[in-house]
Amino acid sequence: MATDILDVICTKRDGGALSDEQIEFFLAGYEADTIADEQASALLMAIVFRGMNERELATWTQCMIDSGSRVDLSGLSRPTVDKHSTGGVGDKVSLIIAPMIAACGAAMPQVAGRGLGHTGGTLDKLEAISGFRSQLPNDEFLAIVERVGCVMAGPADDLAPADRRLYALRDVTGTVESIPLISSSIMSKKVASGTKALVLDVKIGSGAFLPEIDRARLLARTMCGIGESQGVRTVALLTDMDAPLGHAAGNAVEVAESLEVLAGRGPRDLIDVTLALAKEMLDLVGIDADPAATLSDGSALRTFEAMVDAQGGDLSVPMATASSRHLVTAPRSGVVQRVDARAVGVCTWRLGAGRTQKEDDVSMSAGVMTLAKPGDEVVAGDTVLELHIDDPSRLDGALAALEDAVVIGDTPPVPRPLVAERITADSVIT
Ligand code: URA
Repeated sequence: MATDILDVICTKRDGGALSDEQIEFFLAGYEADTIADEQASALLMAIVFRGMNERELATWTQCMIDSGSRVDLSGLSRPTVDKHSTGGVGDKVSLIIAPMIAACGAAMPQVAGRGLGHTGGTLDKLEAISGFRSQLPNDEFLAIVERVGCVMAGPADDLAPADRRLYALRDVTGTVESIPLISSSIMSKKVASGTKALVLDVKIGSGAFLPEIDRARLLARTMCGIGESQGVRTVALLTDMDAPLGHAAGNAVEVAESLEVLAGRGPRDLIDVTLALAKEMLDLVGIDADPAATLSDGSALRTFEAMVDAQGGDLSVPMATASSRHLVTAPRSGVVQRVDARAVGVCTWRLGAGRTQKEDDVSMSAGVMTLAKPGDEVVAGDTVLELHIDDPSRLDGALAALEDAVVIGDTPPVPRPLVAERITADSVIT
C-alpha cells in the first residue's frame, strides 16, 4: 500500500498504530529531506499525546539503529559493558565508573554526550583537562579501549544519525518528553555503539529529566525491554537526583571531585551511587570483583590517568579556575532539609557551565559547590553554596535561580534512598 506523510500523521493523531511501513517511510523520508520539519513536528507531537505500542517502538528503534552503522566490539578481549545516565546535576559517575570497571577486568567503551540545559555532559567535563580529545576515529577508539579498558568519546557521525536530526527537532518543538521517543533515542545510540551489556541510571527527583518516579519507572522498564530485545543485557537503577550528587556541579570542578573519589576520598553519596551501578555492571558481565577495592588500591585512578593520556589529555596542567567566588550563606541555624538539584543545575548553567544552543561554548571554570547537603547541621552565616564565577555579568541571573533552593529546618529531613529501585525488562509496572 502506498504511504504518504499526511496519512502517517493522521493515523497517529487519531490514536491509531503506525504500520512498520509507515514508520520506515517517515524515518527514511525525514532523513532524505522529503518530509518537512513541520510535518515531522506534527507527527512527533501526535506521538507525545498518543504514544506507541511495543511493536511500533521496536520498529522505530530498529530504523534509528539501521540509519547508521553499528560499532563492532567483537574483537575486544574483555566483555563490554556500558552505563547511561538520564542526566543530573553533579552527575560525574561516568568519569569514576569507567576506570573502575576497566580495573575490574571489563571494557567500557563509552559514547558520551554533552550537556544541554541544566544537566551536565561527560564530554564537556573531560574537556576541562588540557589537551583532552573527545572525538576519536573508530580505530583509535577501539585501540584505546582494548589497551586501557575504557574510553570516552563523542558519537561518530554515522551512529544512529536519524536520532541526531530528530532529537534536534524535538528539542525545539516541545516533543522531548515522550517515553517512547526518549527510550528509542537513547537505546538506538547505545545499541549501535556495540555494547553487550548496559546499566541505566534513571534519575528521579527535582534535578531529573523526568522527576516523578512513575514516569521514570516506565522509562526504565521501556529501555530495558528495548535493550533485551536487541541482545543487550540491560538493568536500570532509579537513583536520587533531588539534591546535587556530591559537592561539585560544573566542568573543571567535577573533574577535580572525580579525581578525589578515584584517589580514595570524596563525598559518600557519589561513591555509593557509583558503587551500586558498578556492581550491577560487573554482575551483568559475570565478573566477581569488588569495585570499591579499585578506589582504595589506586587501580581506578591509574586507569583513568592512562585513558586521559591515551586521549591526549595532560592532568599535570592545572585546570581552569574561576576568577571570583560568591557565597550563599545559611540565613538561620538548623538542619538542611533540601538543596534543590534543579535550582543548583540552572544556576550552574546560567553561570556559563552549560549551553542553551548546541553550538554554544561552555565555561570550564564556572560552577557551584554544594557545601552543605540535606541532613547537615548549619549555623547562621555558614556557606551553603559557593558559586564559581567566570563572567560576573552572569551572577544576577544565576542567583535568581537559587530562590527557595535551600531549605533549613529544625529537625533532620526524612532521608531519601540513593537507590530507590532496580528495574529489569521483566519488572511489572502498574
Ligand atoms: N537523551 C537522549 O539521547 N534522547 C532523548 O530523547 C532524551 C535524552
